[in-house]
Amino acid sequence: VPPQLRQISETIWELPRSFRDGMLVPARFITSEKLLAGLESGVFEQTANVACLPGILKYSFCMPDGHWGYGFPIGGVAAMDSDSGVISPGGIGFDINCGMRLLLTNLTEEEVRPVIKELVDSLFSRIPTGVGCSGFIHCSRSEFRKLLTEGSRWCLKNGFAWPEDLELTEEGGCFEGADPGACSDKAVERGYDQVGTLGSGNHYCEIQVVRPENVFDNKTAAAFGLTIPNQVVISFHSGSRGFGHQVATDYLATFLRVMTGTYGIRTNDRELACAPFRSPDGQAYFAAMKCAVNMGFANRQMILHRIREVFSRVFNRSPQDLGMGMVYDVAHNTAKLETHEIDGEKREVLVHRKGATRCYGPAMAGIPARYQETGQPVIIGGSMETGSFLLAGESSAASTFFTTAHGSGRTMSRHQAKKMVKGQKLLGEMEQRGIHVRTSTYGGLAEEAGFAYKDMDEVASATEMAGLSRRVAKLLPMGNIKG
Ligand code: 5GP
Ligand code: MN
Ligand code: MN
Repeated sequence: VPPQLRQISETIWELPRSFRDGMLVPARFITSEKLLAGLESGVFEQTANVACLPGILKYSFCMPDGHWGYGFPIGGVAAMDSDSGVISPGGIGFDINCGMRLLLTNLTEEEVRPVIKELVDSLFSRIPTGVGCSGFIHCSRSEFRKLLTEGSRWCLKNGFAWPEDLELTEEGGCFEGADPGACSDKAVERGYDQVGTLGSGNHYCEIQVVRPENVFDNKTAAAFGLTIPNQVVISFHSGSRGFGHQVATDYLATFLRVMTGTYGIRTNDRELACAPFRSPDGQAYFAAMKCAVNMGFANRQMILHRIREVFSRVFNRSPQDLGMGMVYDVAHNTAKLETHEIDGEKREVLVHRKGATRCYGPAMAGIPARYQETGQPVIIGGSMETGSFLLAGESSAASTFFTTAHGSGRTMSRHQAKKMVKGQKLLGEMEQRGIHVRTSTYGGLAEEAGFAYKDMDEVASATEMAGLSRRVAKLLPMGNIKG
């Protein structure tokens, strides 16, 4: 912990501008005493470097699940003035619109236990997983370009969505203003056959149970569709696959080329390459990023379709009859133009959320009608061993531009985790504890062991204590397919 760090409140620590030359705003770490002690030193540097980016407003934030990332920390949040600020791919992430989706069932643990293996095995065979996997939807390159502008709407038109799925997806499952013309052929080439694929490593599809003792807020839980004791839900985590990765890669290269020469911007770290948001380069990236966002929404929608098919087949009942409606879909790697009140004045700002979840509170525009009283559902992963959380957005989250954590966050590198346990052994141990797992690589599974992640309960409590989101329920794993 740098000596300049000062504690502001129970959940806020701050590095003042004097910590580093060029800081335009202080860097704030929203966390707990315990989590702070485990923060890698690089995260302080990274959050302070972000505080030097042109146009940043108020603070450079790091969420309680924060850890080292490319340029920005994972868990990094920065709102830029939309006129004088920059857009930075490192503040969004390589997996543009990586996000979480939560799906209900009206089944109980007692009904699902006896068929958990069958469910997990058929999910594993029906949802393509692994690094280079391709999807079951064979769309042409030109059809894919349509999908890039339409997001989940493309899935609805083609019979892969219920109308309410779109209402229950952030931004209705489509960012307006996506321009496929701003995306390279290489990006399209990498992405057009990957719609409906999970991807690798940290991406997962998990069957979970909500035990009565793990419901923290009964009223909100009921509003979110959790009404049965020991109800089974499914959550999954995936993004924009090779397409989003290529968009990020392409524009990082462009920005590195033009940043200093054309725009006169210098950053402390090459990984923070950026361009003025209003410049032609900034706008081109924004329009390409939106394509990747829409690919991410469509990708998760197609995965949802497959999950419904699998459950329907195993239980021999329709997905409607099984109550397989969505709770919500929320992105955690984006930049969005939003209106926020800053020092008493409403302003349009570009909010970068990198491994951070939007968490709109009650009565805000932009969240589904059915959640106006509760605030937006927030879905955050824990680990395949320990459980995950469903939370709700709070009005008090205005302080972080309505942003909260997205997971528990890693405590160690993948490499380090792999040295500590063998994937096959871990799989066996989890099986013993009643968690049935299928994975595309044992090595990849070892990297995802529970001990490689922070304490989920601690992270969820920290977000609640900080007023960013309140805990609604903890979701315990029963089965998982891991990329
Ligand atoms: P990221 O988007 O940073 O790759 O991952 C998001 C979060 O998902 C991680 O911080 C971690 O807490 C969580 N996570 C990763 N793998 C799993 C899993 O298999 N199951 C659950 N429930 N959470 C996971
Ligand atoms: Mn991802
Ligand atoms: Mn993610």
